[in-house]
This record gives sequence, C-alpha cells and structure tokens, in this order.
Amino acid sequence: KSKEINNISHVIFDEKLKQEKKKLIELERDLFKSIDNNQLRLYYQPKFNIHTKDIVGAEALIRWEHPTRGMISPMVFIPLAEKTRFINKIGRWVLEEACKIIKKQENEGLDVVPIAINLSRVELYQKDLVDFIEEMLKKYKINPNLIEIEVTETTALKDLKFINKKLSDIKSLGIKIAMDDFGTGNSNLSGLKDICIDVLKLDKSLLNDIEKDLKTQVMVKSILNLSKDLELMTICEGVENTSQVEILKNINAEVVQGYVYSKPLEEEKFNRLIKDKSLYKDK
Ligand code: C2E
Ligand code: MG
Ligand code: MG
Ligand code: MG
Repeated sequence: KSKEINNISHVIFDEKLKQEKKKLIELERDLFKSIDNNQLRLYYQPKFNIHTKDIVGAEALIRWEHPTRGMISPMVFIPLAEKTRFINKIGRWVLEEACKIIKKQENEGLDVVPIAINLSRVELYQKDLVDFIEEMLKKYKINPNLIEIEVTETTALKDLKFINKKLSDIKSLGIKIAMDDFGTGNSNLSGLKDICIDVLKLDKSLLNDIEKDLKTQVMVKSILNLSKDLELMTICEGVENTSQVEILKNINAEVVQGYVYSKPLEEEKFNRLIKDKSLYKDK
C-alpha cells in the first residue's frame, strides 16, 4: 500500500516539476517581448544619511509587469535573462531609463541624487559596454557622478583581473562603483584592497539579530571601520526596524537603505519624496 502512495506522490511530483518547467519556458519566451511591449518598470529605493536623514542617492530596481502573471520580481526573471543574454538588452534599457529620469528631474528643478544601477556578471563581458554607457551619458547630458554601478561581491571577486579592468574603465568615465551584497560571498578581505570600488554595500544578512547579538554588532562595526579606513563609502542595506537603526547610528554607519525608511518606489512617488522633505525628514 505504501508503495502505491509512493507512486502517486511521484506522479504528482513529476507533474509539478513539469508545470514549473513549462512556466519557466513560457516566462523566458514572454521576457523577450517585455521591452518592446513596454512591460519593464524601474523602481527607485532612496538611500538615506543615517544622521541627517537626507536622501543621498537611490537604487534603481527593475520589475516586470507581466500581462497575466502580474508584477514579477527580478529574483525570478533576471536569472532567466542572464541565461539567454537578454540581460544585456535589459541592462541597456535600465541605464537609459535612469538617464531619462535624471534629465526629467533636472528639468523640473528637483534635487537630483545619484542613481545606482545593478549590473550582472554577464553584462560586464559585453565588449561595447563602456562605449554604450558613455553614449548614454552624452545623449542625455548626464553628469557621470549621478550614475553609479553596483556589482555583487561574487561577481566582483571572481575573475578579478578582468572584472577589475572593466570596472576601472567604467570608473574612468566618472562613474562610481559599488560592491553589492558584501558578506554573502567569500567576503575576501584582500579582494577589497585589490578592486577599484568606491562604495561597499553591506548585505542585509549581516544585520540579522544585530539588535540582540553583541557579536554581530562588533563584526559590523569592524567592517564599517575597515571600510572607512579604506576610504570607501559604506551603505547598510535591508534595514527593517528602528532598533537596527539605533545600533547602526552608534557604530558609525553612514548611509542606510531599507524598508524602515522606504520601499522601492515608482518614479512619481520617488519624485514626490525628493520634492517634499517633510515626508521623511522629521518622521
Ligand atoms: P540588490 O541589488 O541587492 O537589491 C536589494 C534588494 O533588497 C531589492 O530586492 C530590494 O527591494 C530589497 N530590499 C530593500 N530594502 C529591503 C528591506 O528592508 N528588507 C528586505 N527584505 N528587502 C529589502 P529586489 O528589488 O527584489 O531585487 C533583487 C535583486 O535583483 C537585486 O538585489 C539585484 O541583484 C537584482 N536586480 C534588480 N534590478 C536589477 C537590474 O536592473 N539589473 C540587474 N542585473 N539586476 C537587478
Ligand atoms: Mg544592488
Ligand atoms: Mg544588495
Ligand atoms: Mg542582492
């Protein structure tokens, strides 16, 4: 009898796997049309100076508004896009979109802040990436210090020589480079001194239990100090509650990003925030 149950659960499992696979293939196919069909959206998550509460920048985060499946997270479709290299097209769309919003903000007389864009490993292997970035800056007459590039720790430190050269070419345009998700890879400290980054983004996972756990506090404090000594700007990301904020203030964090301050926002809401300091300053 138990064998029978086993067989049934196998059938159900196989069926589920088949469905999942089918769904991914369909998504992959739909993704190719997402740009032409105007389904990609860029959200902006502000970064705050922890002491003054000023908005000092924002991170551009992509979403895909699928006609039948609704909003799809980048965690789902970026890996698909990387597999097919469609990510190269997406990345170009993201950069152009960010340039457009900056231009619009400048035209409306808003206080513009630098916008950071995430680049996948795959994208860094495009031969004409640096030319394309330069072309966009020219086309929209964007001051390069208003664009930042984020690459994950794992991306940055694998194939270090090649990636570092690519990043330094991008940097020579006047664009700042951030190492994203620091603390989730090998956190190779000697890598930190060899790579041409300007900003270190501490991953959310480093803040787990920081409000309760003294060891975590000591560790994050040391990383913050190290980062400062290396003359890097540090951003703590994924800050979710006020106890974390209090601790981070005490251990000399500088810039923070997370739900406790703001979720990633649509362009209109982001602009509203930038326009009206009272929406966040004295809260
Ligand atoms: P990331 O670059 O590390 O971005 C931070 C992620 O943390 C974002 O997820 C953001 O919405 C989320 N987040 C921010 N604050 C909090 C918080 O307080 N709590 C929690 N739990 N999460 C928070 P999102 O938007 O889903 O993006 C996931 C990842 O997808 C990004 O991680 C990035 O690696 C990638 N990604 C997003 N947009 C792009 C893009 O345009 N191009 C590429 N290549 N990758 C992108
Ligand atoms: Mg990022
Ligand atoms: Mg990150
Ligand atoms: Mg990440």
